[in-house]
Amino acid sequence: MPPPNPPAAVTSAPDWLQLQRIVLFTGAGLSAESGVPTYRGAGGIWRDYRYQDYACQRAFEHDPVKVLDFHALRRASVQACAPHAGHAHIRQMQARHPGIRVITQNIDGLLQRAGVAVDAELHGSLWRLRCPVHGVQADAAAAEFASRRCRHCPPATAPWLRPDITWFEDAVDADLFEHAAMLVDDAELFVGIGTSGAVWPAAGFAERARRRGARMIEINPEDNEASALYDERLRLPASQGLPALFPLDRP
Ligand code: NAD
Repeated sequence: MPPPNPPAAVTSAPDWLQLQRIVLFTGAGLSAESGVPTYRGAGGIWRDYRYQDYACQRAFEHDPVKVLDFHALRRASVQACAPHAGHAHIRQMQARHPGIRVITQNIDGLLQRAGVAVDAELHGSLWRLRCPVHGVQADAAAAEFASRRCRHCPPATAPWLRPDITWFEDAVDADLFEHAAMLVDDAELFVGIGTSGAVWPAAGFAERARRRGARMIEINPEDNEASALYDERLRLPASQGLPALFPLDRP
């Protein structure tokens, strides 16, 4: 059995600069302090919107305009938010240490806006669009977000572009998950930040890291079902937990 929760302080923090490979596994809670709502807990967006109407392929096929309007709103609300000190801390960690890998479940692009190099965006991005014929349009410009149609298809038959995110009932990107699994298998330290561990198969990475013998630390103000996988649990928001665990002022 794991030990009871320690107080909100690092009891046995490893000297992170001495480690070779560290995986930061982030979830919606990392963006909470920027004002982006999480799925679960107070203020979670699925309390106000049924995912069956807004976030699955069937809903998109049934009423693309309604689904695209919803995602346009989500982009606008994320655009109005800014990365916080926790995001900036990760960027500074990467500047100090070449072995910091970031695997995120977030689709909001805030890590990238903070200058963080993200190794795997497991559930895609609100900021990319996908054509059923031409695939992901990584270079989608404001015009495509506005026209909602693929510019590489003949205008008369151009299909709706859907957000390049993993909706409910979608399959995940198997190649991307394999790449993330490789990073997890290599990690000496695995830090779960702001994730409830309830969304599968992404949630399996914490179990996988533990099985592979990584040291496990969680940063999350609240307990959840996955907490028992971690050796140490920092009951702090991400902006405080990250600098507590990874001080930058060491020589
Ligand atoms: P989740 O909503 O299931 O859980 C969020 C977790 O963050 C909770 O355990 C909560 O206690 C914790 N948390 C809240 N405030 C925090 C803070 N300040 N610091 C640290 N932790 C905090 O999130 P999830 O596990 O990422 O799963 C939800 C799924 O929803 C993901 O697949 C993700 O793709 C998607 N999602 C993404 C966003 C986003 O991109 N910002 C937002 C909502 C949902």
